[in-house]
Amino acid sequence: MAIPGLALKKENGIREKWQGLSEKEAQKRYEKYGPNILQEKKKISALKIFMEQFSDFMVLILLAATAVSIFMGEMTEAVTIIVIVVINAVLGFVQEYRTEKTMEALKELAAPTAKVMRDGKPVEIAAEEIVPGDLIILETGDRIPADAVLVESNNLFVDESLLTGESVPVEKFSDRDTTGSEKSSVYMGTNVTRGRGKAVVCSTGMMTEMGKIAGMIQDIEEEETPLQKRLDHLGKYIVFGCLIICAIVSLTGIIRGENLFTMLLAGISLAVAAVPEGLPAIVTIALALGVQRMLKKKALVRKLPAVETLGCATVICSDKTGTLTENKMTVRKMYTEDYVEVRGGSLSSKGEFISGFGIIDVKKKENLRLALEIGVLCNNAVMRKVKSSKQEKWELSGDPTEAALLVSGAKGGIFQEEINKEYKRIDEIPFDSERKCMSVICRNRKGESFVFTKGAADVIIEKCTKIYTSGGIVPLDEVKKKRILKINDDMAKEALRVLGLAYKRINRYSNFKEAESELVFVGLTGMIDPPRKEALNAVKKCNLAGIKPIMITGDHKITAYAIARELNICQEGDRVLTGKELEEMSDSKLQALVDEVAVYARVSPKHKLRIVKALKKKGHIVAMTGDGVNDAPAVKEADIGVSMGITGTDVTKEASSMVLMDDNFASIVSAIEEGRIIYSNIRKFIRYMLSCNIGEVLTMFLGMLMGLPLPLLPIQILWVNLVTDGLPAIALGLEPAEKDIMMRPPRGAKESVFSRGLLNLILFRGVIIGLSTLVVFISILKFSGDVSTARTAAFVTLVITQLIHVFECKSERKNIFEVPLFNNIPLVLAVICSLIMIIGVVYHPFFQKIFRTVALGHNEWVLIGGFSALGPVIASFFKVNAKYIRRR
Ligand code: ATP
Repeated sequence: MAIPGLALKKENGIREKWQGLSEKEAQKRYEKYGPNILQEKKKISALKIFMEQFSDFMVLILLAATAVSIFMGEMTEAVTIIVIVVINAVLGFVQEYRTEKTMEALKELAAPTAKVMRDGKPVEIAAEEIVPGDLIILETGDRIPADAVLVESNNLFVDESLLTGESVPVEKFSDRDTTGSEKSSVYMGTNVTRGRGKAVVCSTGMMTEMGKIAGMIQDIEEEETPLQKRLDHLGKYIVFGCLIICAIVSLTGIIRGENLFTMLLAGISLAVAAVPEGLPAIVTIALALGVQRMLKKKALVRKLPAVETLGCATVICSDKTGTLTENKMTVRKMYTEDYVEVRGGSLSSKGEFISGFGIIDVKKKENLRLALEIGVLCNNAVMRKVKSSKQEKWELSGDPTEAALLVSGAKGGIFQEEINKEYKRIDEIPFDSERKCMSVICRNRKGESFVFTKGAADVIIEKCTKIYTSGGIVPLDEVKKKRILKINDDMAKEALRVLGLAYKRINRYSNFKEAESELVFVGLTGMIDPPRKEALNAVKKCNLAGIKPIMITGDHKITAYAIARELNICQEGDRVLTGKELEEMSDSKLQALVDEVAVYARVSPKHKLRIVKALKKKGHIVAMTGDGVNDAPAVKEADIGVSMGITGTDVTKEASSMVLMDDNFASIVSAIEEGRIIYSNIRKFIRYMLSCNIGEVLTMFLGMLMGLPLPLLPIQILWVNLVTDGLPAIALGLEPAEKDIMMRPPRGAKESVFSRGLLNLILFRGVIIGLSTLVVFISILKFSGDVSTARTAAFVTLVITQLIHVFECKSERKNIFEVPLFNNIPLVLAVICSLIMIIGVVYHPFFQKIFRTVALGHNEWVLIGGFSALGPVIASFFKVNAKYIRRR
């Protein structure tokens, strides 16, 4: 906001020492300036949703039916149709409103967060809660949450293309160096591509530069899924086809000399029977419920189409650290002239350093001490003692790799707080996964300056020309280099993540390259990062489900291979491709090879993009994880971009279609499983609704062709379609997973929803439902001569055949006698409800009047029962489902 910006100018004097706001003050300011959002999100209007229920083609047909009924003086029928339409609208409204609310809640979960100082402590809050005066902490990959002035900056580059169109990131400096200049301002919505900084917020919400441009809010995209689009199309074809059939039937009837109104009514009945009105709504509900279930399994879907694509995934490309492993690093081994075993817990400052000669006194072993010091100084993690506890207890925050180095330092008596007093940091060359190393430049009390560097051992060794030995600093020749690299490999074979440590004394430096050259090699430090326990099981599931897990890591080839072997991602002797080999390889060569490789090591984010592209060219549907900013292009390119909820940067989250709330590989596999369940359930209720509709249309159509009285009245069909079918169809969407859902190969991304024999199943059962109903109608009409009894019996047959059929739809592979009938309680309840209602409609005088039904005798019931049971018996006798298995 403009005014607080001015107020802050006054605070400028103290800005350098600005420690942020207290919670209380922040609350006050929040009340005064409001939330930090660009525009009030348009809340969905309940009325709009309700009105929308009346806007589809179905309602037009029903209105026509009402008009015809009124014209014929059938007031009860007209009123009933309207009542049914309204009840249906209310049901539709309740479901849609719930769905909308679910999506809204999800959006809030996915809303960006920001790190700020409150009460002198760093905390993570929703970006919406930021107020003018807040001190925000910016790191690589962060989306800047408000307009702010930098009070601290470290090699900070910001991508402002959203505001300026300038695609090259611009460097930003603290206000100290550039008072009042553009160079010290950062703007809401832009991204930190490199470095770190702290800034004081001066404008929030609509008063920011972005707010002035407005309308750029990024949200969960609510695009339709491919299936929804296809069903929309299908719906249009059905409506069109049904209009033609209605016209033919009505016209032939009229030409045959039938009563005009009867034929109009027949046409309308047919239309009511044919249009699968509930279908799109149920698909939406199934998707929304599925998204909710996925969230329970720690996968937040940002883009709805991903739910469907998940079921088609053929490969999952996953990072190693934190996704396949726990990202709980503990230094276990070091090397400084000799191997040193490091003992003690991962959160304890107590431990021993042991060599072949026994316990080492770190104070006396200079090179080990220096190696530990480098690890602690070249470090952005924080290790704090928990004050309240009596026992020694430490709290770690920051990158786990760095935290592990702080703990190992503490075990050697080198505590961060103390050594930081001795060495003041004057500059930093931050870690990034392209360079694979990090350096700090520090000055000690005597005024001497040093560069301390740590990073991938092979990278560090290339930057060193000397080596620190107990006999002093000596040149690092090729033989020594080779020996160190061999030791690095040996440590990596034990699945250790190995970092090299180096330093040099400097007087001055002109650029970073110079600072990181001609270093003195000090030692290696190896840390374990155990594989996640759930990952092993998840990999097994993938293998059964025809999904190939691929590990893509920045770590060393041998470490990566060792962990991949532990997790069964690759087999003995399998090829591991490195970033360097990738670089030398053409795209076509990579494509030729891509199916054979399950582990990529020492890769940079830019290689990930090439890997995704090669896999896609080979026809794979790729899920790809990513966390850093540079991963965003690969995550965007993947069919299912997966970002990390905990370690992921805002930029990558925004590029992704799914966020893993727990960064866990197993959650991707659960999401894929859920995706498969959702799709298979959608197929189940499509099968159910369409075969029911075909049954209804066939009954009416054949009846009319045979010159019979209407076998069913429009109001009866309406009841069947909206009430009897609706509830079980929704319940089918809640079907639990079939046991073998993760033992089937992934479905083809382009396959039709009716593929793999579903259309045959629908047609087959549709015909049986139609014929059973018609035969019951004709038989009773012949024997009793009473249309009302015949119609009631046909009506009941239709309902019961459908309620039996719903259980057949539980599986495409098994027949009704093989599926577990009672494992979906909502379905059982829906069927019981529908049965009770139909009995009410047949026997209660009030409903009899409305639905033109008559009480049925037990002869009719025997006939109804016999014909209703016919479908499943024929289906299992001819092994309709079994044939389907063989064809696959
Ligand atoms: P993944 O890509 O699976 O997450 P990773 O964490 O090993 O694997 P990067 O974070 O890109 O990948 O790290 C690449 C290499 O850089 C590591 O193997 C390690 O040697 C080195 N490295 C990692 N973190 C740091 C750090 N904070 N400082 C210096 N070097 C680091």
